[in-house]
Amino acid sequence: MRKLIVAGNWKMNNTFEDAENLITEIASALDEKKFKCDVVICPPALYLELATDVADISGLFVGAQNVSDKDSGAYTGEIAATMLESLEVDYCIIGHSERRKYFGEKDEVLAEKANKLLDYGIRPIYCCGEVLEERENKTHFDVVRQQLKNGLFHLTDAGFGNVIIAYEPVWAIGTGVTASPAQAQEMHNFIRNLVAENYNREVAENTTILYGGSCNSGNAKELFSNKDVDGGLIGGASLKADEFIKIADSF
Ligand code: PEP
Repeated sequence: MRKLIVAGNWKMNNTFEDAENLITEIASALDEKKFKCDVVICPPALYLELATDVADISGLFVGAQNVSDKDSGAYTGEIAATMLESLEVDYCIIGHSERRKYFGEKDEVLAEKANKLLDYGIRPIYCCGEVLEERENKTHFDVVRQQLKNGLFHLTDAGFGNVIIAYEPVWAIGTGVTASPAQAQEMHNFIRNLVAENYNREVAENTTILYGGSCNSGNAKELFSNKDVDGGLIGGASLKADEFIKIADSF
């Protein structure tokens, strides 16, 4: 059975003290109640150790927001998969639209990042999704197909089995405009069928596909009730513990 996941992408937010408070609040909510999904936080890299220390003694999982496609060496400012592994990080987001847009990351580099993460036992959360113009001109399925093909479909069944896909329509990220439950289900079903075509039906049924884009405690239940929506990648709404916990409690 595939995993249900709610993952918080903090992006470039929070001081050390804010991070400490937020992690503590989320961990104590996990102590009090059992959730149907795995709860993952993806803080800035500086706070990963803080988070994995708490994760050791709670039900929390921890993800990074980025990783280098290189192993080690003279790459100032970069963080290698082996470093994430040494902190016992569980997941790492790759291919977020902000990294594609502001840092010029292309699918080919993302494919290498996925390889590096899997080499070190870290599960990639691979983001894909179309911009508004692509939805309007009805090329959104082609765009997502291409992103998955280039970034992930070189992986073996075993490698792919450790990947989480996050469908994040770019027009919904941070805009307050959410994909309708029908739009999310349609794309998630398309993605699952693509996985089945490229691997097989069993692999597809075991693949966790998250929705991301202005998901909050008011719309999470309806989005997550779709057959092919296995949880969410949450940006803004993951910065407040009570809101994030309500989303995790929406299954
Ligand atoms: C994101 O950036 O991954 C995201 C989903 O952001 P938001 O929830 O703020 O739209």
